[in-house]
This record gives sequence, C-alpha cells and structure tokens, in this order.
Amino acid sequence: MSTVYNFCAGPAMLPPPVLAKAQAELLDWQGQGVSVMEVSHRGAPFIALAKESEADLRELMNIPDNYHVLFMHGGGRGQFAAVVNNFLGNHGKALYLISGQWSKSAADEAIRLVGESQVDTIEIVSKVNGLNKVTVPDFSVSSEQYRYLHYCPNETVNGIEMFEEIDAPWPVIADMSSTIMSRPVDVSKFGLIYAGAQKNIGPSGLSIVIVRKDLLELPIVNPSSIMDYRIAAQHDSMFNTPPTFAWYLAAEVFKWLKQIGGVAAIEGMNKQKAELLYQCIDHLPFYKNGVDPQNRSRMNVTFQLADEDLNKVFLADAEAQGLVALKGHRIVGGMRASIYNAMPLEGVQKLVDFMTDFAEKHSA
Ligand SMILES: *Cc1c(COP(=O)(O)O)cnc(C)c1O
Repeated sequence: MSTVYNFCAGPAMLPPPVLAKAQAELLDWQGQGVSVMEVSHRGAPFIALAKESEADLRELMNIPDNYHVLFMHGGGRGQFAAVVNNFLGNHGKALYLISGQWSKSAADEAIRLVGESQVDTIEIVSKVNGLNKVTVPDFSVSSEQYRYLHYCPNETVNGIEMFEEIDAPWPVIADMSSTIMSRPVDVSKFGLIYAGAQKNIGPSGLSIVIVRKDLLELPIVNPSSIMDYRIAAQHDSMFNTPPTFAWYLAAEVFKWLKQIGGVAAIEGMNKQKAELLYQCIDHLPFYKNGVDPQNRSRMNVTFQLADEDLNKVFLADAEAQGLVALKGHRIVGGMRASIYNAMPLEGVQKLVDFMTDFAEKHSA
C-alpha cells in the first residue's frame, strides 16, 4: 500500500504510531488476554488509564487545578446542548459570537432549547478588502449580565481562526473541537473549553470538557444526568459507561504528543505546515483563499481553484497520488486541506508539490 495522506476534516487521521500500538494490543491489553474494549471501566487497569490520561492532558494544556477535566459522550454537538442545559436553563441570557458554521450551529441549538429571548448573537466576521476578517467587540463597556459568552476559535468549515483569547466580563466558553492542543492556550482565561475528539484527540463520540470548578456552583436547572457536568465531575466521568475505546485511543494520542515535545513543539510544526500551504496558494494565481492573513486557520486550509470547472479533475488527480479528502465543505465549496496535529510535514509538502504541478499543467 503506498502512502496515503488523509486531509479529512473529521474524523481525521490519527498518528500512525498510535494506531500501530492499538493494533498490537487489540487482542490482549496489558496481559489480560482481552481487549481494552472488554474490560470494566471500574476495574483498576482502566481507572489507571483514565487517571494517567487526565494527568497527561493537564500537563499538555497546562490546566490549572481549579478546573475539572471531563471525558463525556456526544462529540461537539453534545456539548452545544450540554452548555445550555448546565448554564442557561430558563435563567438569564447567553451571548453567542458567530464566526462561521459551527458557532452558528451552537447558537441555533441554544435557541432551539431556550428560545430567542435568552440568546443574543453577534456576527464577528465581515469582509475587509474582500477577505473574511474577525473583529471582536470591546465587551468591557457592556452592561449586559450574560451567563456566558460562547465562541468557536477555529471554524473548521470556513477556515477561520482566532488566535487571541477573548476578554469579557462573563465566563467564556469555547468550542475548540478543531484547534485543541494545536497551540498553547491560556486555560485560565476560559470558563469552559470543550472539544469533540475526532480532530486532534482521537475517535469520534468522545468529548473533552475542561470547566472551572466554581462555575458548577451556579444555580442551575436540572440537565439530563448524562449531560450534567456536576454529576460527571462527582463520578470522575464514570457516572455511566464512558466510551472506553475512544478514551484509550485519546490517552495514546496524549502520550504521543508528549513524546514529540508537547503542545509548544506541535505548534511549531503546525505553523510550518500552514505557512507552506498558504505560500503555495498565495504565489500561484491558480488558487485563492478568502480569509484575512490574521485569521487564516492553521488546521483547516480552505482554497478555491480560479477555474472551478477543474474541481473534479483536481480531486481525482490528487486522489490518484494518495492525497485524499480535499473536497471543501458543501456550504463553502472549493477545497479544504485539514492539517491537524497528526498530519506530517511530508503530507503537506506532497500536497504543495501536487498543487504546483497541477497549476502548471492547467495554466494556459
Ligand atoms: C467537528 C466539529 C463539531 C461537531 O462535532 P460532532 O462530534 O460531529 O458533534 C463542532 N464544532 C466544531 C468546531 C467542529 O469542528
């Protein structure tokens, strides 16, 4: 089998050493003669895994002690609902910043659950010189009493990223599904961070929640127990059976990331990969990207061919060379190369070489 580089936005590629290890111990985990999928989550071996993975994540993200780390079900969208159920209920209002598809979906879910009267939204992306640019309002002058502000630092579909943390007088909740652990963040600036696992953490279904402990003391309505952060925290994420295999793989991804130098090291590699690809797009008139350089995503690089009639040929030729899943999201069109932590520099180099050749071949 020749090397395939998988640019899928999610579920995304996992580090090959992690998959190889999982394969090697699939039938016999820790000498027990059974797989990790077949043992009790309440047994000592799995509890040790859970503890170690939490410690590794805390170390990787430098998570302060006054935060819980929860391993929950339901991916990113599960948390769209959980956030509302835990913090909004039928009390007060929340503010949602809209920067693209996912933050819009999160706001839509909030409105679905509690109605428009409790949910304010602000569009923070506008066209400046023809490019999508994020402008965050100055919240220090606001007299509103929001329960929380929700935003999405990396819009996976639109290829828009915000690199600066938001200052607001309310707890800030961030959907980091597609940027978590790709670069250091100051966790102490957030009330809650969540992420569906299938981009930078592990397989789909699992979600990670990092929540400041004092927020769980707020008066809340009764969320369903499976969504309740307090119950999850009280039970060390084992109120019900957690997605144990996904958790095991996430634990292996954390170990892998630590081994290659942690989040600061991967940030260096991620910058290098993204720069390589954006340089190619900028230097060839054959391609274009519609995002302001300050907000260009390091994880999801969107681009269009100047001649959209060539989209199909581009995708077919790329696939023939082992460069797969480059088709853009249907609502944005064009192409999208998702280059999460697990994508090696060689994969991006190969894509850039292909794009350069393709442009040459099809330029009149
Ligand atoms: C992928 C993604 C989601 C959705 O995750 P699901 O696990 O499919 O619910 C939500 N937010 C962002 C930013 C994403 O990239």
